Amino acid sequence: MTVTDAATGSAGTTETTEPAGTGGRWASEALRRADPQLADLLAAEAERRAESIQLLAGENLTSAAVLAALTGPLIDKYAEGYPGRRHHTGCALADAAELLAVDRARALFAAPHANVQPRSATSAMLAAYAALLRPGDTVLAMSLEHGGHLSCGSRANFSGRWFEFVGYGVRREDGLIDLDEVRALARLHRPKAIVAGSISHPRHPDWAAFREIADEADAFLIASAAQTTGLVAAGLAPSPVPYADVTVAATHKLLRGPRGGLLLSTAELAERIDRAVFPFSQGGAAMNEVAGKAVALAEAATPAYRAYAERTVAGARVLAKGLAEAGMRPLTGGTDTHLVTADVSPLGVSGAEAERRCAAAGVLLGKCAVPYDPAPPAETSGIRLGTGTVTSQGMGEAELAEIAGLIGRLLTGGTDVRIGARVRELARAFAGRR
Ligand SMILES: *Cc1c(COP(=O)(O)O)cnc(C)c1O
Repeated sequence: MTVTDAATGSAGTTETTEPAGTGGRWASEALRRADPQLADLLAAEAERRAESIQLLAGENLTSAAVLAALTGPLIDKYAEGYPGRRHHTGCALADAAELLAVDRARALFAAPHANVQPRSATSAMLAAYAALLRPGDTVLAMSLEHGGHLSCGSRANFSGRWFEFVGYGVRREDGLIDLDEVRALARLHRPKAIVAGSISHPRHPDWAAFREIADEADAFLIASAAQTTGLVAAGLAPSPVPYADVTVAATHKLLRGPRGGLLLSTAELAERIDRAVFPFSQGGAAMNEVAGKAVALAEAATPAYRAYAERTVAGARVLAKGLAEAGMRPLTGGTDTHLVTADVSPLGVSGAEAERRCAAAGVLLGKCAVPYDPAPPAETSGIRLGTGTVTSQGMGEAELAEIAGLIGRLLTGGTDVRIGARVRELARAFAGRR
């Protein structure tokens, strides 16, 4: 009991000061009674969030409905296999929930086939490769230095160990993908698969051009679309689904669903994709996550979600413009997405230093390598920001313009306590919105 009180005190939080919709979402009496230590950690985490402006590109806020599905009774169900062909009994209702999720995913993305079981986008990438490739095959993907994800050939990841990756990049002049280079590399290396998509590049891939290059090389086309899944769902990004053999999506980023992956494919590849998830790379599905995905997919089909997605892009454009005015260099000069990646070296700071200074003032963003980055990977020259969370909280263009100015002041040496106070004030004002 005293431990609990001490921990609560040290976190500077009491239950009455927790804003509704943040701390309140996690305030389970059962947890507090059973494990006050962990309950305090969660309360402090909610408090941390309520006090900071969250601009990490991959995060968002799940709705109360998604949370309810995640903690619902399917959390305890074992369901290996697929609807109608499970290895466990008692799955009729789990089957119905999974079919709902699958049908909603297929409808939302106009995809012939959907698999909703991958536990993460990385495990979905593993399944995509497993369905199409053999160890030792060559894969052409965006190089990690230019914005490819770890699953696009990092030596620290299965992808870089099991396949031969060739990387393409962006042009030095305009920061855009050089499709002539992609084509030349495809002709030279004859890859078995070509991957398009990035974690930090703020423009949409030209899916038709990638398809053409893949066809010419007789390669599969894999869309690595986790970052922009929500924009595709809302019709604000060109869909890879008509062009790619397999599309790898994420349900926890802009889509605002549970942490997890989603695979979309052609009808021909349906069996191979399903077998590559279970039994090849996963065991029983997390049926509560599948249920949560079903809810998020239904939410993403609404006009309200489309309006939300539009605001994320409008906000990101304002943010990019504000960062440029403050002396930073947004890659490609702006954004078509919820993402902004900016070179901060013109201000004389590294990406890591920028991340530290902003975090100290309550602005959470990530350091990020920029193409042709002269700085070591642990330092980097850039920062990456996303507007998913703040837009879910109701912040708009006015707030994002102000935030860009605050970041500019922090990176040009501003240590004024008033910056931190203003960040907390803004964060608090919007903390309870979702
Ligand atoms: C976020 C992301 C991933 C990784 O997602 P996890 O669910 O964390 O594994 C992979 N690829 C891209 C393009 C991403 O944006």
